[in-house]
Amino acid sequence: MIDPVTRREFLGAVGATAAITTLPRFLTAADMTPKEPWFTHAYRRAVIDMHIPDWDPAFLSKFDPNRYADMLVKSHAQSIVCYCQSHVGLFNYPTKVGRQHQAFAGRNIMQEMIDACHKRDIAVQLYTSLIFDRTAADDHPEWRMRTWDGKIQGEGGRHGVLCINSPYREYVRSFVTEISQNFNFEGIRFDMTFWPWLCFCEHCQKRFDAEVGGEIPKTINWFDEKWVAFQRRRESWLVEFAKIATDTVREHRPSATVEHQASTFPLNWMFGVTAPLAAQNDFLQGDFYGDALQGSFVRKLLENLTPKRPFGYETSFSVSLADHTARKSTALLEAKASAAIADHAAFIFIDAIDPVGTVNPNPHERMGQVFEKLMPYYDQLGGERVRDIAIYYSPESKLSFFGNGKPVASPDTSDTHTSASMQAARRILEAHLPLGVVTKQSLLEWQAAYKGLPEDERGDAFDKDELPGLKGVRVLVLASVNMLDADESDAIRDWVRMGGRLYASAGTSIVDTRGRVNKDFQLADVFGVSLVEPYWSDRPRFLAPTQAGSKLFIDFDADYPAFCTQFGPKIKVRSDAHVLATTTLPWPAPKPSQFASIHSNPPWTKTEEPELVRNSFGRGQVIFSASPIEMVETLGDTFTQLVKSLLPTPHFAVEAPKCVEVTLFEQPDRNRAVLALVNFQKELPNIPINGINVVLRPGRTTSRIVQLPSGTEMKRSLREDGTVSFASPKLETLQMFAIEYPTSA
Ligand SMILES: [Zn+2]
Repeated sequence: MIDPVTRREFLGAVGATAAITTLPRFLTAADMTPKEPWFTHAYRRAVIDMHIPDWDPAFLSKFDPNRYADMLVKSHAQSIVCYCQSHVGLFNYPTKVGRQHQAFAGRNIMQEMIDACHKRDIAVQLYTSLIFDRTAADDHPEWRMRTWDGKIQGEGGRHGVLCINSPYREYVRSFVTEISQNFNFEGIRFDMTFWPWLCFCEHCQKRFDAEVGGEIPKTINWFDEKWVAFQRRRESWLVEFAKIATDTVREHRPSATVEHQASTFPLNWMFGVTAPLAAQNDFLQGDFYGDALQGSFVRKLLENLTPKRPFGYETSFSVSLADHTARKSTALLEAKASAAIADHAAFIFIDAIDPVGTVNPNPHERMGQVFEKLMPYYDQLGGERVRDIAIYYSPESKLSFFGNGKPVASPDTSDTHTSASMQAARRILEAHLPLGVVTKQSLLEWQAAYKGLPEDERGDAFDKDELPGLKGVRVLVLASVNMLDADESDAIRDWVRMGGRLYASAGTSIVDTRGRVNKDFQLADVFGVSLVEPYWSDRPRFLAPTQAGSKLFIDFDADYPAFCTQFGPKIKVRSDAHVLATTTLPWPAPKPSQFASIHSNPPWTKTEEPELVRNSFGRGQVIFSASPIEMVETLGDTFTQLVKSLLPTPHFAVEAPKCVEVTLFEQPDRNRAVLALVNFQKELPNIPINGINVVLRPGRTTSRIVQLPSGTEMKRSLREDGTVSFASPKLETLQMFAIEYPTSA
């Protein structure tokens, strides 16, 4: 996490001469459960930030490993991210390759911390900060990231940021080796494995010249193959760097898990984080500070990308990382921890140590109360999410084309793909439909399985939902996917042809991940439309429903159409697709002083240009929207109606306010499914909600529905259409139910 560290000169060289103690004699938490790695049961985890310098002898002078570990017992944390080193770059043990924190001179406090935690049966993930390393940056200015004009990136700030293409990477290899060889730990967390800025240092320039050719461009242009090649290099260089750290741990301590901080997966292109980075982790875990929607979206994304489960959803105990003392309310912590439970994720809270080394007991007491209340739910978790609808997320698309032409000195980091995806997610979640997130790997996995079947068996396998990758997905949402490759388009085409339902918007499939602009949509045949002219910046116009689309536009009609200022191409209908809405142009306002109505430019010229089109392709159905209407507040209901029209028989339908999220997980090993309702209101504490009716379409016989963890049986109503419904008891923050199936014997 990015945690402010006061920038100070680190005075004098601190000799690291003390020998490292030989290691341990006891069983670790991992050893006690040899078949199952520590994290599979650790749903309650803690981080105690310890980014403290040593220029003042008071710093960390009062640190006591036993009191530190006692706090974790208080909070019921099953694991701790335990600081071995920090953004400051000082080590908490007598290192031979770096510099030890002065407060611990002559002591191996790291070992004492590990011992104290293991004694209390708390799994230890050792923390190290990559790239952000104040000490290394001060000692080696030649390793630091550089701006386009050769200045040190971030000069004058608190952080020292190193370039992964410089010899810094060998320093990382040496300290990760030292840590892995000398300590017995369950896992290691590498923080900050991302690009905070663009780097133009000599090492990056040299690699770019060798691998791409010439100089790194100084202008951002996503249609310039050279610029895009630089971005793709940044992404692959980052994976290569992460692999150095990961492989070093796996070589010297193969039993330990490895994890690189994963909060960057939904962050914009600058961070350079794409799906291949996930393979350098055993599981993903990331810290997030946004609202209920952000949390919900990122959990579904991490669930898709994580190599193993559970993944972790992490947030600070304090109101923000920059505020050392402000405490999040118990109600907010409970809502966040409950939302993590509903997504079957581990929940991690971050506390920060005081500069002198004391740990404030309050966060641990408060988290202890929250975890105590939620404790009976943790045994209920696991299984596979039911996701009738999946957002297709493309990490190569985390950008906006209207940023083209900006100099690298002031880069545009807006990201229309993530914004559109999150707004689409919000509307689907608010409509209480089963939602997941998928990425390219899911798609290609599905296609490989599909192509592995004889042609005459493919339709049957699709109908029976037997194919992995997109298992259970009925509707795929491509929300303004800025860059899409031919192999992705090809797999999507196969999937729709077999019966998949697709919603796609804006410039999806015009540009590929090399920055090449196609003359038409790669998916033109699937969408049923062709490109007339791409528009990458805002284009005010009205969307006028046609007869065929009138039911989708509740508040609008042809005379009073819906206003939209979003970007999006001009299109023409290509086949016998149905046009659901057309463009009406606003009054043109030829001069700033001229108007038809003083406050607005009302609808003026009706056109036949299509805006919203429905197409049949193979056995599938497609809706294409020229603008990302998922981002238009007044068209939210229209978007929801469109998605519902693609999904006539969802696995559940719930009548509840928008603040309630519903999730469903199949647990075949327990012969049941688990449904969760989470209440997460903007103003907390939550107002309890009564009278929520849940309608399930399980597609099989159910024997009982019971409330968890109480085991109270719910009264079910069975209907002829195969649905089963029940009324939830009062929902405060979390309700969970098991839908039990009869035993086949
Ligand atoms: Zn560099």
